[in-house]
Amino acid sequence: MDDLAQLRELSESALVKQLSSRFSKDVIYTYIGDILVACNPYRELGLYTQAMQDKYKGRVPRTAVAPHVYFVANYAYERMMQTKTDQSFVISGESGAGKTETTKHIITHVMEVCKAGKTILETNILRLNPLLEAFGNAQTVMNDNSSRFGKYINLNFDRTGSVLGAELTTYLLEKSRVTHLQDNESNFHIFYYVLEGMSEENRSQRHLKPVSQHAYVRNTSKSAHNKKRNMEQHFNQLLDMMFNFGFDATEIDALFDVISAILHIGDIAFTPAPNDGASVSSSSSPSLQHAAELTGLDEQQLQSILTTAVTTTRGEHIVRLHDPTAAADARDSIAKSLYSRCFAWLISSLNDTLACDASVSHLKACSMGVLDIFGFEQFEENSLEQLCINITNEHLQRFFNQHIFEMEVEAYKQEGIDGSEFSYPDNQDIIFLCAGKGGILSLLNEKSRFPQGSDNAFVNKCGEQLKQHRSNAFTPARSSRDLKFTVNHFAGQVTYSCEGFLEKNKDKLADSVVPTLLQSRSEFLVALYTAQRDMASGFKVQSKRRQSKQSANLATLSSFFLKSLDELMSALNRTMPHFVRCIKPNTDKKPHAFNSKAVSKQLKYAGVLETVRIRQAGYAVRMSFEEFCKHYRIIFCKAHEQPNTDAETAQRILTLAGLKNYRIGTSKVFLKYNHIDELQLAMRKHA
Ligand code: ADP
Ligand code: MG
Repeated sequence: MDDLAQLRELSESALVKQLSSRFSKDVIYTYIGDILVACNPYRELGLYTQAMQDKYKGRVPRTAVAPHVYFVANYAYERMMQTKTDQSFVISGESGAGKTETTKHIITHVMEVCKAGKTILETNILRLNPLLEAFGNAQTVMNDNSSRFGKYINLNFDRTGSVLGAELTTYLLEKSRVTHLQDNESNFHIFYYVLEGMSEENRSQRHLKPVSQHAYVRNTSKSAHNKKRNMEQHFNQLLDMMFNFGFDATEIDALFDVISAILHIGDIAFTPAPNDGASVSSSSSPSLQHAAELTGLDEQQLQSILTTAVTTTRGEHIVRLHDPTAAADARDSIAKSLYSRCFAWLISSLNDTLACDASVSHLKACSMGVLDIFGFEQFEENSLEQLCINITNEHLQRFFNQHIFEMEVEAYKQEGIDGSEFSYPDNQDIIFLCAGKGGILSLLNEKSRFPQGSDNAFVNKCGEQLKQHRSNAFTPARSSRDLKFTVNHFAGQVTYSCEGFLEKNKDKLADSVVPTLLQSRSEFLVALYTAQRDMASGFKVQSKRRQSKQSANLATLSSFFLKSLDELMSALNRTMPHFVRCIKPNTDKKPHAFNSKAVSKQLKYAGVLETVRIRQAGYAVRMSFEEFCKHYRIIFCKAHEQPNTDAETAQRILTLAGLKNYRIGTSKVFLKYNHIDELQLAMRKHA
């Protein structure tokens, strides 16, 4: 069965059983109503060939072809062309489930069905991913090529269905990866491309050493390193792509200078100095020198932003000395800042190239967006990043529920049944708890604004204010010294450890850092820091006045995040959504293995079971008059008799079985979940 919503009995175990049996036959795509479920096969199945693309083109009925991501892509395109409404794809699933691969397949197929003539724009759209992956992906325990940021790619079309341009928005780059690696993980791919793929000459110009001798990458996953990877090829392909995209050689050189500088900055160590200060250790003074050279700063300038913090209050500068630990922290925040600015610059440049040309922008008729974003996260230690990620997922879940519910009510309406009495599981209160006025993030922002604010004060305030929250989803830690609280998310309970929440939220360099960086001889570096983060592109150069106004509003990580989430949700709300739920059948990145327990958990996270629940709250079982009357005729007539198959007979059977709360539509019987059992009993009685 290709659409599991057609199963007469919709239960969690029935769904898993079906998915498992399909998976064992290499069938990875399955519909559950309007949702496409995709199980990661971890091997090539020949599903993405030209022949396959040809099969899913034009007006293909869903039942005529096997479920496929190409079907969804083509269907959405057809809908867009017929109705001239914007479409979106919401791809979800845990890390390694196949979201990014699915995104690529969708974009590839949309470009195929829109009869792309291989213009530069279209080629660039297809080239986008490898570029993004070089700078935004890394090897993790979960996925060898894991995206460490969320993204929304929006394609614009004219009335005839040709692509006019594209926009890319990214969310929450995991910049902590630049400076700290978990066991068995690696840094962003680009560092290895540069260290192992760049030409000898270019490497020695930048004083680069082998991976094992740079602190930020030294700890790299053994498995990543043992793999015979052709870094030279990776690097050269990346270079070609950047050239083709229109980056010029000077820019590219300057970008790799900053990437190399980050590696040298990571190698700077500190020793104690007089007055509880710190100085750059003598063994790392070459690193300081190289970093200074590559950032276009004097050694003295770089050393001073590493070892001192200058705060400015009412025009007065107060210089504080860092001890070695604080100096190491300052070093890491500068490195993270440099990297995230490079990433933002990259996104902004890509957007400039992909943007709809001004001369044709009046032709924009409709659009298609693809959202490839981190799924629900529940680790042993959960921090502010997890909170933001899970809030995103609460929003997406609500969007999903609303959509599924609306479709459900629509199905009743078509059968002449009033669906107004139904409600759906709504997580709005949890969203309020986390992101609403007076909620967790708003208390965090309040505490982040005051110099005296502390993680402790924040956690206590949450405890006081939210213990009795109407969502009933907040539990403070048992002891007030524990910097923790628990939120009961739709997908499960998550305990957040709030140490460092305020620092992360302020997301701020010491006052003296940016002014010093702005004195750099590198035009590129100066440009990175004169530009301002911007919602649409992630990055944009703006006038000084706008800048200060905007940075005041979006001063914290969470306020910036909430604003972009808000924009994302409004964008999605204007579209007709198509949901793809990616499932990871096992945690070992292995083909042929299907772990039912793990899959069942993901179906829950993905809200697939929520669909089932919405169905169950409404009429979970629908049967045509014919099917119903034939199946249950024994209640109504003798075994050898053939009853009529109409509304009247159905009504008689239902009355004889003593059922209540069912509905009879114009062609179908709508039953509650438990009605099946009652009908079974009645059958036994009449047999
Ligand atoms: P996510 O973005 O959800 O973290 P990815 O899309 O990066 O996951 O997929 C992880 C890995 O799984 C890919 O690198 C690829 O090896 C494999 N994979 C994912 N989807 C497919 C597919 N449809 N066919 C074959 N392999 C796949
Ligand atoms: Mg991904």
